Amino acid sequence: MKNEFDIFPKEETINRRKFDVYELRKDFPILSRLVNGKPLVYLDNAATTQKPSSVIENIKHYYTFENANIHRGLHFLSELATESYESARLKVKEFINAMSASEIIFVRGATEGINLIANTMCRANILKEGDEIIISHMEHHANIVPWQLLCERKDIKLKVIPITDDGELDLDEFKKLISEKTKLVSVVHISNSLGTINPVKEIVKIAHSYNIPVLLDGAQAAPHVKIDVQKLDCDFYVFSGHKMFGPTGIGILYGKTNLMNELPPYQGGGDMIRTVTFEKTTFDDLPHKFEAGTPNISGGIGLGTAIDYINQYDRLELTKHEDKLLEYATEKLLEIEGLKIIGKAKNKASVVSFVIDGIHPYDIGTLMDTYGIAIRTGHHCTQPIMQRYNLPATARASFAFYNTFDEVDKLAEGLLKVKKMFQ
Ligand code: PLP
Repeated sequence: MKNEFDIFPKEETINRRKFDVYELRKDFPILSRLVNGKPLVYLDNAATTQKPSSVIENIKHYYTFENANIHRGLHFLSELATESYESARLKVKEFINAMSASEIIFVRGATEGINLIANTMCRANILKEGDEIIISHMEHHANIVPWQLLCERKDIKLKVIPITDDGELDLDEFKKLISEKTKLVSVVHISNSLGTINPVKEIVKIAHSYNIPVLLDGAQAAPHVKIDVQKLDCDFYVFSGHKMFGPTGIGILYGKTNLMNELPPYQGGGDMIRTVTFEKTTFDDLPHKFEAGTPNISGGIGLGTAIDYINQYDRLELTKHEDKLLEYATEKLLEIEGLKIIGKAKNKASVVSFVIDGIHPYDIGTLMDTYGIAIRTGHHCTQPIMQRYNLPATARASFAFYNTFDEVDKLAEGLLKVKKMFQ
């Protein structure tokens, strides 16, 4: 059968742009604004990333020239909007190397992707009384709470892979947690509060050797590392557009075709049906079965543009720059007396969580803001990690490829000023 998504032409190979961080920063208008009278130093990229002009302009272009509802109209604008939206799906397919564009489900974000899988697996009775789900101690609340809601409904047990003091998953313990009752493993690819890059390929391999499917939460991975869902062989993969230079309110759930076909629709409504009578409704094929109602059309298009933006560069060059920033920041921050980094995994992405003796993280964040430096303080939606390290909160600087070494210097200088104020 011809895949309907193949009607849209593949993007032509793009000539890669040479990576020059100061040139690249010009593409992000917000980075040149002042905050509290100081040049903005934006180091809260794990919460959300800034958007390049191309994303902003393309959303404007869509509403200015193409706005119409998709999939159901035969008129010019509807076809144009459908083509833009579906070509964004194709870009996502290529971005994560899915087998087919019909495995790409547009959702609101990583959170909705996980909730979709939790709810539909439960309704399909793939997850039932007495079953067990394995997550890890370093999950974002988005990969804890949806499973807990299920556990309450169906008496399902949640088991948790412990982490070492350095913030790495204990894989020996993981293996011990697996039993014949385990029906799903759901773990984070990159931790948003520790920066740990988990050995997800190995985790998938172990789980698959027991025929257990694996969901990977890639919210922090999509902006930093190349994702290849076929190589990872994961069954489900979720991420959010806004954390990878795209708009808010749009994200991706990737699911293997055979598994997604086993699941019932998440929501009912228009655009996901084939026939409706008062007696019975039949549902459309993937991906539409999971996309009820008018979707976030401009969001999907904006996400496609964000992927185009990233694809202009050699991804390895971007990652290398971020790795150097992480190394430099770790070095600079450790020079500060009384500062302790939380999360010292060998394999880390560009996140540095830290505490400073005698200064509450909230005070650090508030004072840094007065210097125009945006960092995050709190539990980062990972309260179990805070409990693990016996901390109320941490301060967190998280980098994107548009950050510079000067900004790391400003971070360190700012922290020294904060320390001085408290002495
Ligand atoms: N998973 C991780 C690791 C995250 O860092 C986040 C957001 O910070 C989420 C899931 C949830 O993402 P969203 O709020 O975009 O759905």
